[in-house]
Amino acid sequence: MKTSTTARRPARPTSFEGIGVSGGIAIGPAYVLEGGIAQVPEFTVEAHALEAEVDRFKAALAKARRQIRKLRRKAEALPVSVLEELGPLLDAHAAMLDSSRLAGGVESAIRTRSVNAEAAVQAVVGELVRGLEAVGDAYLASRGQDIREVGDRILRHLTATPYHAFALLTPGTIVVAEELSPADTALMDPALVGGFATALGGADSHTAIMARSMGIPAVLGVPAVSARVRPGVRLIVDGEAGRIIVDPDADTLAEYRRKAEARKRLERQLARLRAMPATTTDGVRIALQANLELPRDLENAHQGGAEGIGLLRTEFLFMNRPDLPTEDEQYAALRQVVESMQGRPVTIRTLDVGGEKLATALGERIAESANPALGLRAIRLALKEPKLLETQLSAILRAGAHGPVRILLPMISSISQVRAVRAILARVVSRLKRRKARIARPIPPVGIMIEVPGAALTADALARECDFMALGTNDLTMYTLAIDRGDEQVADLYNPLHPALLRLIQFTVEAALRNGIPVSVCGEIAGDPRYAPLLVGLGVRELSMAATALPRVKQRIRRLAAGPATQRARAIMDQADETRIATLLDDFNEGL
Ligand code: PEP
Ligand code: MG
Repeated sequence: MKTSTTARRPARPTSFEGIGVSGGIAIGPAYVLEGGIAQVPEFTVEAHALEAEVDRFKAALAKARRQIRKLRRKAEALPVSVLEELGPLLDAHAAMLDSSRLAGGVESAIRTRSVNAEAAVQAVVGELVRGLEAVGDAYLASRGQDIREVGDRILRHLTATPYHAFALLTPGTIVVAEELSPADTALMDPALVGGFATALGGADSHTAIMARSMGIPAVLGVPAVSARVRPGVRLIVDGEAGRIIVDPDADTLAEYRRKAEARKRLERQLARLRAMPATTTDGVRIALQANLELPRDLENAHQGGAEGIGLLRTEFLFMNRPDLPTEDEQYAALRQVVESMQGRPVTIRTLDVGGEKLATALGERIAESANPALGLRAIRLALKEPKLLETQLSAILRAGAHGPVRILLPMISSISQVRAVRAILARVVSRLKRRKARIARPIPPVGIMIEVPGAALTADALARECDFMALGTNDLTMYTLAIDRGDEQVADLYNPLHPALLRLIQFTVEAALRNGIPVSVCGEIAGDPRYAPLLVGLGVRELSMAATALPRVKQRIRRLAAGPATQRARAIMDQADETRIATLLDDFNEGL
């Protein structure tokens, strides 16, 4: 067959690859986020607090530098033509961040004018831009725009301003950004945001988890995506394949519309399993529960037939606000979840901020750290700031008067932490009794997350101190393999099938069963049907996952037999090679 080679435009890259973190197809117009900050707080700073303010500025500057470095590294993967355009721009921004005129100017403005860092950044940026414009040279004036962009980047880190503009989007919009924090993602309404794509972010980052729980197709880690996508252009997000397609032609569009339709049909079929139990073919019952990021995920939990909430991440209560939620506010939000579950258990995890999940309201309490994932996170913060924990425990105990709740403690690494929390809990109970408040009777079980390797290795001792355990395999994988779960550069090394991780899971499950306490898995592997035979084979009988994943996992469990799954798990545990382990698991799944 002869093909015509004439009159063909050179093929231009219209499809960009990234990490598919939340399945599904979305087709819609691109909304490319600009870094602009609508409102910058301005206030006077007392003399004794000026140095702390300078430090706050330096921390924001360091974050902006890190972000540019990451974007620059990602840009290396781009075609030369794009890199030639984008590289110098990022280099120029990096140079401006390092320039003494900007950094030194802001530091001195804070000190001499006694103003907050945001006001100083705004003033210095304004002065630099006006200085360039006054020269009357078009090139220099255009550099002013770069300075403004750099200033906005620093301001975004200083204020942690979320993108409230999401509320104004038209339904089906695809959001494109350099980076979206979990707090930004929490502001997305799935009825308006069809999908999203970012340049930074890894598969098990909380932004990815949030996307899955809301059922929004998403691709992260697409190099320079916000610079390469024109606002308003039609985009396809293929969250399964980890690809975005810009301005698709008619054939591609038709193909993806068919794919999206096929996926909807499959979802309708799976929905029929809603009321059926997750029982293996040889009669082993597995409890399937939902992880909840936001109360609005409850609808998905009900639709998926969740038997309870296995992990309620309470961080949402602290996000996108400048102050801390009161006990009454927390109680009202938790009570709504408990009542909605109508007698099914709700496992409420105490606050797990720190690391990448930094709540604005807590910013002052957690200083900048070189290794935030190893820093003042989760239970460590709660025990350092017991008032925070007391308020939260009070709210949980009161919500527990409306239905069964369990208390779950994040990032436990030693038995002394469990004992300390139990002592605080006893104090809170007495105080509430004195107040004659209605609280949970009996006092709810206290469980711990096993997500630190040291906790997994001492699971037998910890099991004697707590009432249940939940395996947080996201952090457990990160800490065991020393791989940042949110860093797309090492995403290929993040492998839950590493034998070290499997041994820690096995050891924990056996310790819990020996001590007669329930153990669940609530990390992201629980929501991937691929891992179901292995987890069941290792003795896990409770799984908690993104509500949107429940039907697919249930289908897989109803097809497998626990006996052969146990044998396959034994064979897997004899292996040292991750590739061999993957093959053994995938072969087993294929036979189902
Ligand atoms: C985990 O670490 O596996 C977990 C469930 O907690 P989070 O993802 O909220 O850190
Ligand atoms: Mg965790």
